[in-house]
Amino acid sequence: MLETVNPATGEVLATFPVHGRREVDAAVAAAREAASWWAGLGWSGRRIRLLAWKSHLIRYMGRLAQLMHEETGKPLDDAKLEIITAVLHIDWAARHARRVLRPRRVRSGLAAINQASTLEYLPLGVVGVIGPWNYPVFTPVGSIAYALAAGNAVVFKPSELTPATGQWLVRSFGEALGVFGSAQPVLQLITGGGSTGEALARSGVNKIAFTGSAATARKVMAAAADNLTPVLAECGGKDALLVGADADLDAAADAAAWGAMSNAGQTCVGIERVYVADAVYHSFLERLTLRVSDLRPGFDFAAAYGPMTLPSQTEVVAKHVADALARGGRAVVGGHDAVSAPYVRPIVLVDVPENSSAVQDETFGPTLTVKPVVNMAEAVSYANAGRYGLGSAVFSGDRRAAMNAARSLRTGMTSVNSVIGFAVVPALPFGGVGESGFGRIHGADGLREFCRPKAITRQRMRPLFNVLTFGRSDKDVRRLVMVMTLLHGRLYRPRRAKSSSRP
Ligand code: NAD
Repeated sequence: MLETVNPATGEVLATFPVHGRREVDAAVAAAREAASWWAGLGWSGRRIRLLAWKSHLIRYMGRLAQLMHEETGKPLDDAKLEIITAVLHIDWAARHARRVLRPRRVRSGLAAINQASTLEYLPLGVVGVIGPWNYPVFTPVGSIAYALAAGNAVVFKPSELTPATGQWLVRSFGEALGVFGSAQPVLQLITGGGSTGEALARSGVNKIAFTGSAATARKVMAAAADNLTPVLAECGGKDALLVGADADLDAAADAAAWGAMSNAGQTCVGIERVYVADAVYHSFLERLTLRVSDLRPGFDFAAAYGPMTLPSQTEVVAKHVADALARGGRAVVGGHDAVSAPYVRPIVLVDVPENSSAVQDETFGPTLTVKPVVNMAEAVSYANAGRYGLGSAVFSGDRRAAMNAARSLRTGMTSVNSVIGFAVVPALPFGGVGESGFGRIHGADGLREFCRPKAITRQRMRPLFNVLTFGRSDKDVRRLVMVMTLLHGRLYRPRRAKSSSRP
């Protein structure tokens, strides 16, 4: 059994079974049957059931938020915002699955003009979802809702720190399904820690959607390799916020404070580094300091954010801060003494060398490093120098400069003049590059992530050049070569570029 604990009070909340190989395999076998039933419901059958789940989550939001508050320590209002964001994704996935995935005709091209070509996206079957604790609703729902909408069954293993939240999600889906009559176990829960996750990765599911650290992603991939199970990896980040000389400094400081400190900094797309144009460095720092100095962690209603959910993360934060200070960094807010388990008060560090752990590694706490830069190009090059590439943010008064910087950032997502804006746009794909992982949840790419593309050609008349037969003649091949030479063999001259380079 595993015990869950309120990270703020230390109170034991509940116990859950640690499922082993046998229980995991049984869940996957049940999911296989359920997957055919679910796929057989068709687009509209799945859509109405997912929309019913969505409204269930909104109607009982208070209960779910309370569980999240107890298991993670996050403020109740933050928990509600998280549920609302998850609901936006369920709604989008349910309403757009048909449009994105339905069969469509594609052009066959001259060489295959006798063929009618069709492309469609079929469900994979059973998807195993392994979730983290920091956003125990938003993050797994980003995989679950899209996998379900695409016609798959799901076996879900929430983090061992947040199984009650996971259980509530699964039960609520079952209740929403029940309204429509008899239902099969389309979304199932398994509980436990790393060994349970590993059993799921080895179980022969058709895909693993993993969210967690890059170190664990490597283990999941190794386990999944047994069956050549594909893996979607949503891992950590070290997101940077770039501030241009012409930026709205109040808005940038506000965004940096929220992006770094909310959820006690335990956000995969949380801001951990800021690069600010020299000319406005001091004004920005002053505004930022003012905003974060007043933030107080706690478990009460007025607290800005909660405790560190994972006790060992407090030591990681302390180590990064100590390393930064030992290498010549200065704390303009907080410092060593801001770390007092289970809470960490806001910490803002300056003059920190770029090769220190506070700049290179994921801190996952309410800390920020701030560094002056000559211009946006230098900010981009510092931001891109790390191993991670999840999210990023750019603040600038010049739209074109901001968009250019956004495009140059080696991250999966960038928000301009806001933070984490991309996470609440369901049509946009979410995911990273480098150590931040690969594959995408959300949007059309997120739906296709849980499908296998199926290509079909149907011969509707005799081919112009019948060369795919032993009965072909020399003449057939000669005619094909002649036509292809005419079409593709001319000296290629690029057309003169248009004057505007804007896409
Ligand atoms: P973690 O890697 O410790 O655990 C994640 C999940 O993997 C848990 O459910 C855990 O039980 C399971 N697990 C552990 N060992 C396993 C194994 N050998 N095989 C299979 N499963 C195993 O991560 P965490 O501490 O729960 O979450 C924090 C991390 O997640 C941070 O790095 C954060 O940035 C990242 N994260 C990323 C995103 C994203 O979308 N990119 C979202 C949220 C969190």
